[in-house]
Amino acid sequence: MDNFRKNNGIRRRILIVEDEAVNRDILGWILEEEYEVFYAENGQIAYDMIKEEEQTFSLILLDIMMPEMDGYTLLQLLKKDEKYKYIPVIVLTAEKNAEVKSIKLGAADFIKKPYDMPEVIMARCERIIELYEDQRIIRSTEKDTLTGLYAKNYFYEYIKQIEDIGAGEERDAIVINVEHFSLINELYGHDEGDNVLKDIAKILTDVFADIRTIICRFESDTFCIYCDHQEDYSGRLKSIQARLDELKGSNRIRIRVGINSNDRSEASVATRFDRAKSACDRVRGDYTHNMAYYSNDLLKQAIYNERLINEIEGAIHNGDFVVYYQPKYTISGDKPVLKSAEALIRWKHPEMGMISPGEFIPLFENNGLIQELDSYVWWRAAKQIREWKDKIGKAVPVSVNVSRIDIYNPELEEYLLGLLEKNKINADELMLEITESAYSENADRLLEVVNNLKAKGFKIEMDDFGSGYSSLNMLTAMPIDVLKMDMGFVKNVTKDEKSKRLVELIISIAKYLNLTVVAEGVEEQEQLDILRDMGCDVVQGFYFSKPLPPEEFEELLKKG
Ligand code: C2E
Ligand code: MG
Ligand code: MG
Repeated sequence: MDNFRKNNGIRRRILIVEDEAVNRDILGWILEEEYEVFYAENGQIAYDMIKEEEQTFSLILLDIMMPEMDGYTLLQLLKKDEKYKYIPVIVLTAEKNAEVKSIKLGAADFIKKPYDMPEVIMARCERIIELYEDQRIIRSTEKDTLTGLYAKNYFYEYIKQIEDIGAGEERDAIVINVEHFSLINELYGHDEGDNVLKDIAKILTDVFADIRTIICRFESDTFCIYCDHQEDYSGRLKSIQARLDELKGSNRIRIRVGINSNDRSEASVATRFDRAKSACDRVRGDYTHNMAYYSNDLLKQAIYNERLINEIEGAIHNGDFVVYYQPKYTISGDKPVLKSAEALIRWKHPEMGMISPGEFIPLFENNGLIQELDSYVWWRAAKQIREWKDKIGKAVPVSVNVSRIDIYNPELEEYLLGLLEKNKINADELMLEITESAYSENADRLLEVVNNLKAKGFKIEMDDFGSGYSSLNMLTAMPIDVLKMDMGFVKNVTKDEKSKRLVELIISIAKYLNLTVVAEGVEEQEQLDILRDMGCDVVQGFYFSKPLPPEEFEELLKKG
């Protein structure tokens, strides 16, 4: 470090503030060899120089008794100014009283007059500069610049220290996340997003002020709290929500909270917060609960998830993933006709049996492995389309699911085009289902990708339409071909008049936009009848068939 300081070629700047020319000269003569030295005859001149200089001084040597503005006044001015308060000041003084007073005012050190040996003065200046620069580095890593809360690494270190001192005390790890924060940014702009984060930081600090607490901003919209164990957090959460509701500007802001209460295991600090985070993830998008505790069940779940993640690559290799096909029926004519299919992945685990995609898809989306899996499914589906074309003599278009993660794959288009070419199939035979949530995440990127794919002839389906909430405006912006209503709508269509009208409305909007409407999750005749009357084009669901292995699907095809 020392070497770096000396050899990096930067001459640090020292300002000598002293009214007596002799003293100025002596100090200047000592310091000029190492530093770039500036001089001021009194406090006022010095203050003007400090304000004028673009570069800051690394150190100020300050005399006390001076005309116009004395040393104390300048010291006070500097120490109350955010911009200058971290410049170290060494006071030059002949009297004992002045030493105490200047230290109280924030001086870093003092040098006695008449001056000591030059080496001593030099060493003192060097040491103070070093000390202050180190502190500055520490300060910058310690706090999050936006909110003033602790930054993650420092937060963890701090907790370790607390634990070493107060081992055995009961404490809780809490993770707080802002629901739909990316949407706040998108709708109201980044400045407003920043303001919301600052407000939340302030609210959390206030609401936890009565107990021993440290708080950190973990990453963008996630906050971590480490505090004395509390039996019940509901009161605090109510206070937080009440204060959030008072914020003006953006819409209602909701938070969700995961608590790892008094974790007595040997788990590291990071793991303890991971656990709180997994509890927090469990209430994502849940409008009835916004708080969850980490429990043994979650631990088991975490271990299970870990196992799946570890085994995926081998499973792809061993052919444990199989692709099933669920038939889609066109219902616009008098009789439903099997015209197309959706490819759905299944994991035939040698020990655990059949695992549903609901269990592993979200996991693989979290760590990016989904790209590999999806590529595999598309590859299989493309081959299958070719095979049926040859066997049955006609094309059965197959929809494949495209995860929101795939959108970021720069080779997506090239890969898909390669599949078409290798199997000699058309772009409109391999249809692409993109789940609605992808549309709210990074609309610009998605729009670009979708436009390119469309230009190559692919048909785009918006999957799970209506399960999120940013879909209506997206619908007009995205050049999609097919709208796939979320299963929830179909389920309720026979249950109440309101849901029925909603479905009617969605179908009429889709028609207006010239989109084909697909209803999935059709299980009963009554649902089918209602949907057909409303003008829905295609249905898919257990009423007709579950997703089937390719051989069984083929049987169905042959039967017509
Ligand atoms: P999705 O794309 O919305 O697929 C429809 C899901 O509804 C499938 O569940 C299907 O089996 C199920 N389903 C079909 N008809 C009915 C019905 O009448 N009643 C009910 N209750 N359910 C029905 P599955 O196969 O478990 O897939 C779940 C989700 O996993 C899919 O939702 C899709 O988002 C995802 N997924 C499946 N395969 C893949 C894949 O290869 N890649 C990606 N990225 N995601 C996939
Ligand atoms: Mg789908
Ligand atoms: Mg769907």
